Amino acid sequence: MTKLEVNDEVAGEDALLCPDCGDPYLHIESVQVATGEQVLVVTKDGVNIKTHGPEIDYAKNVRGAIIEIGYWCENGGHRGKIKLSFRKGNVFVDHSSRVDEENQGSDLWRD
Ligand SMILES: [Zn+2]
Repeated sequence: MTKLEVNDEVAGEDALLCPDCGDPYLHIESVQVATGEQVLVVTKDGVNIKTHGPEIDYAKNVRGAIIEIGYWCENGGHRGKIKLSFRKGNVFVDHSSRVDEENQGSDLWRD
């Protein structure tokens, strides 16, 4: 079961905690939105739209949009994706991750 938690003691707001270790120092690296027709991918390098790929086939199969948020954690090299998928009137949450201590992730955007 995927369980996402927040800590409401970070600057007076609810900060999403790392799903792997609970650390509040989490960074958003990418956002991807797949429909049955296209995939919108946003990273630090910009916005891309793909018109074919496995994400589109999967969205067609479940007949609903799929949103993936890529993240990395400052503690322990945790990198992963939080996936929201819609089908049959429900939004389902899934999470996958790996440890990559060699490469720090990038930020989607920051000034
Ligand atoms: Zn972590």
